[in-house]
Amino acid sequence: MPETGPTAADWAAAEALIRELPPDGRVLLICHVNPDGDALGSMLGFGLGLRRLGVRRMQATFPGPPEVPEPFRGLPGLDLLVPATEAYPDPDLVICFDAASESRLGELVDRLDTAGAALVLDHHASNTRFGGVHLVDPRAAATSVVAEQLLARFGVPLDAGIAECFYVALTTDTGSFRFDATTPEVHQLAARLLATGIRPGDISRRVFDTRPFGAVRLFGEVLGRARLEPAAAAGRGLVWTWATLDDLARHDQRPYVLEALIDSVRCTAEADVSCVLKQTAPGEWAISMRSKGAVDVSRVAVALGGGGHRFAAGFTGRGAAEEVVAAIRGQLDAALIPTAVG
Ligand code: 5GP
Ligand code: MN
Repeated sequence: MPETGPTAADWAAAEALIRELPPDGRVLLICHVNPDGDALGSMLGFGLGLRRLGVRRMQATFPGPPEVPEPFRGLPGLDLLVPATEAYPDPDLVICFDAASESRLGELVDRLDTAGAALVLDHHASNTRFGGVHLVDPRAAATSVVAEQLLARFGVPLDAGIAECFYVALTTDTGSFRFDATTPEVHQLAARLLATGIRPGDISRRVFDTRPFGAVRLFGEVLGRARLEPAAAAGRGLVWTWATLDDLARHDQRPYVLEALIDSVRCTAEADVSCVLKQTAPGEWAISMRSKGAVDVSRVAVALGGGGHRFAAGFTGRGAAEEVVAAIRGQLDAALIPTAVG
C-alpha cells in the first residue's frame, strides 16, 4: 500500500461535503468500536471545531455499549456523545474517525448507506477505502493530525477544548512521543496545542497514569502468568498473556482497564512480538499485538481477520487462548520484515 496522503482533490471533496451541508443539516460522527484516545480525541475535537463553524445538529457516537472508558471521561466535547441506539438513522453527513475498515463501525455500518454522504478520516495503511470521500494519511501519527488539518482549512482556531482532544489523540498514538511516528511535525502540532494553555501533566496523569487499585492487582496476576517463547518468529521471540472475564469480575474491573496491559508486556527484552488476549465473551478474544521492528504485526492481524499498523495491530480471536496463540505463531514467519531477516 503506497505511503501517500490525501490528494488535493480529496481535500477539496472533503471541504465541499462540509461547506455544502444544508442549513440545519444533521452530522453524525462515528469512531471505532472500543474507542481509544485517538478515536475519541479526533472525533470530539473535530466535533467541537464543527460547532465553532456553526454546525448545530450534530451527534458523536461509537458502536457497542455507550460506556466511555474512565481515562477519557474528562475530555471536552463529551456532551456531543449519544449511545449508538440513539444515533441519527439517516444523517445528512456521516464522518468516520480512526476506523480502518467497515467492521470497526459495528452496528453503525449501515449509516454509510443511509447518510447523504460519508467522509472518512483515518491514518491506517490498511484502510480499505470504505465510504465516499477519504482523507486517509498513513504518514500521519494519529487521525487527529488529519482532523486538525481539515479544521485549519476552514480557519477554525484551536481553542483549549479542541486542543485537549487532539493532544490526547496525539499522545495516545505516539506512545507519549516515544514511537517512530514522532516526527518534527508531531512536535510542531503538539506545540500549537500546548500554546492554548492545556496542562500536559494533568492530562497525561488522567489518561495514562491512573487506574484503580483493583486494576493494579489484576495486572499483577495477568503479568505473572505471561509466557515467553524465545524460538517464535524465527528466534525473534514472542511473549504473551491473557485476561479472562472471570479475572475482571474477581477484581471488579471494567474491560477497558486491560488496554494498558500491552505496554507492560511489550517491555520484554527477550521478545520482538508481544501479545495480549482479552476475553470479550466465552471463546472470543480481542487481541492486541505489538512488534519492536522485526515483524509486521498488521500482516498477522489482517491474515486473521483484523488490521492495524505495522508495529501495533489487532483482531478478534476465537477458540481457546492456546488455539488463538497457535494461529498467531503460525503467521509470524510470513510476517518477518525482509530487511530484518538474516
Ligand atoms: P490495540 O491493540 O491498541 O487495541 O490496537 C492496535 C491497533 O490495531 C489499532 O490501530 C487498532 O485500530 C488495530 N486493531 C485492534 N483490534 C483490531 C480489530 O479487531 N480489527 C482491526 N481491523 N483492527 C484492529
Ligand atoms: Mn489512531
